[in-house]
Amino acid sequence: MRLYTLLAAAKINLYLEIVGSRPDGFHELIMVMQSVSLCDRITVRSIGVDAIRVRCDHPLVPADETNLAYKAAALVSQRCPGMMAKLGGVEITIEKQIPVGAGLAGGSSNAAAVLVGLDLLWNLGLTQSELQELGAELGSDVPFCVSGGSVIATGRGEQLDPLPGIDSLHLVLAKYESEFVSTPWAYQTYRAQYGDTYLSDTQSWQERQSAVRSGAMVQAVAQRDTQALASHLCNDFEKVVLPAHPKTAALRETMAGLGGLGTLMSGSGPSVFTLVETAAEAETLADRLRSALPAPDLGVWTARFSSSGVQLES
Ligand code: ATP
Repeated sequence: MRLYTLLAAAKINLYLEIVGSRPDGFHELIMVMQSVSLCDRITVRSIGVDAIRVRCDHPLVPADETNLAYKAAALVSQRCPGMMAKLGGVEITIEKQIPVGAGLAGGSSNAAAVLVGLDLLWNLGLTQSELQELGAELGSDVPFCVSGGSVIATGRGEQLDPLPGIDSLHLVLAKYESEFVSTPWAYQTYRAQYGDTYLSDTQSWQERQSAVRSGAMVQAVAQRDTQALASHLCNDFEKVVLPAHPKTAALRETMAGLGGLGTLMSGSGPSVFTLVETAAEAETLADRLRSALPAPDLGVWTARFSSSGVQLES
């Protein structure tokens, strides 16, 4: 086949703790990550010329070699020399549904989809862990985006331990189009304000990981206890992002006041989500949010937890 269409799932963080500063310059993290059904649609198609082309319908997403999807194709092409000459180059079409720069791993999910798509298009036979190793070279969230589901992620986010999935939960996601948070800024600000709380050695990091693994959030996910899960939502980035982004802080407060099981900012923000038990509750809460904050630039989406990262479109 000369064309594959894949669905690339967004992620939310149910738990995000910044533990320390690593010698490689990244932060040491402990996260509980969850795929959700909000997806971009990625098509990879063979073209007759020896080139990588990107088409994207979103004005904020570059269609050049800085696009993470392009970088993923370039990496596979570099690691599998001769494939492009033999089978032709690739045109990548990205249909965006995941809000851009939202803390939902939109770019990372697109890169993950291109890794999976090129593996199929060029018949490379790569295993999931080989795809994830390639993904780790592109970004810390890419390995998770390949496999998706519910995981504990440690290291810089690339070391993944699957958790039993909670597919039954639904959510409302919201983001102001005009609000953006730079992830490097969020880390730098966190380091400046909370660097003195960092654990400094790998033994302390491992002890902290063990404590989180046996702690309330991970146990709640493992036992599929949705009430307990929602009451232990936690994201360290909220401490620096919300004070600097009052509009997003007000959005979070409004969403938390509308009911639901629990509300949190995802990743480095500025998207905010509220968990609910059913699709009908998600629609009702989304309508109430649109009425409470009738701003034209407020994007509101409903979704559900998903056990998939990248999936072939059926
Ligand atoms: P993360 O949660 O992994 O930190 P994010 O959801 O905050 O990511 P993205 O949507 O991935 O952020 O976009 C971050 C930046 O990356 C944007 O400024 C965008 O221009 C650029 N970018 C490059 N490639 C892509 C892509 N395929 N999709 C979206 N953004 C991309």
